[in-house]
Amino acid sequence: MSLKTFSPCTIGYFPTPVMPLLQLTQKLGGPELWMKRDDLTGLALGGNKTRKLAYILQEALDRHCDTVITAGAIQSNHCRQTAAAAAALGLECHLVLGGHAPETATGNLLLDQLFGANIHWAGQHRKGEDISALATALMQNGRKPCIVPYGGSNELGAYSFVQALEELETQLDTESLTHIVFASSSGGTHAGLMLGKALLQKNYQITGISIDKGETDEVPFDQHILRLANATSDYIGAGLRFSQDDLILNDQYLGEGYGVIGEPEIEAITLTARLEGILLDPVYTGRAMAGLIGMIRKGEIAAGDKVLFWHTGGAPALFAYADALQVHHA
Ligand SMILES: *Cc1c(COP(=O)(O)O)cnc(C)c1O
Repeated sequence: MSLKTFSPCTIGYFPTPVMPLLQLTQKLGGPELWMKRDDLTGLALGGNKTRKLAYILQEALDRHCDTVITAGAIQSNHCRQTAAAAAALGLECHLVLGGHAPETATGNLLLDQLFGANIHWAGQHRKGEDISALATALMQNGRKPCIVPYGGSNELGAYSFVQALEELETQLDTESLTHIVFASSSGGTHAGLMLGKALLQKNYQITGISIDKGETDEVPFDQHILRLANATSDYIGAGLRFSQDDLILNDQYLGEGYGVIGEPEIEAITLTARLEGILLDPVYTGRAMAGLIGMIRKGEIAAGDKVLFWHTGGAPALFAYADALQVHHA
């Protein structure tokens, strides 16, 4: 069976590094911990959206789009990487951000502005509810927009993580790998890793730590991931079908909700910073690492296991959380 393949544009630098986390492994008493450094994708402070955008925007260039529209939260890493990619490719960028304009922009929002993105404030609508109205308005003005869905999580975005698992094969002995753990929020990373694992016929567990309750969504998050994994399988002609049994989504670490930093995130961020010199972020990877630490402490991941933590980026948001992180510097 030959699968369809797609080409990325060159907005990032791949492969991203893979490294052992020796001190953290020792501190947590095993398992053997490794990290895939997608915080180092090379585009404007990096992150997992660079992979997705490389494929999504190449397809947009092929269709001669001149404008990119996407949406996210005020500290969206996806929006920051989209704004940077648009600048690099000479495309006009429009971001629909949840909330209202703050007095002073910081973190990712500051960077969105530096990249020259046009920002539209959407109040409660942080998941792109207002995108199609904006697209219509831009088309009436003669633009040819490409709509990048929330989080870049469509079939091409997920496909980029099938590619990412192939990339990993060249870097790490994955026969002995038991788990890949990562932050799961709009589902593209998760769906792509599930599909990639199936195509490569691997035995490790793909364990997403849920970051966002998603209680306002029409479809429950697990169903959304499964649908996207199946749709991506169809898109590339793989003919695979995923069901609930194939999906591991841990929703025990949602804390006070999306973007609210608590003790577990602060512990994960400071441990990783002090033991490894690596920055996690307050919203996604801090929570995902807190989940990994929690699973190790509960014995859900054993001392003999070998775990790859997929670092999905996000550190620019640290500065927007300075207040929450200050209190706990001791
Ligand atoms: C978007 C994002 C995620 C989640 O990836 P999805 O594919 O949207 O589930 C995780 N970590 C960071 C830092 C992100 O920006």
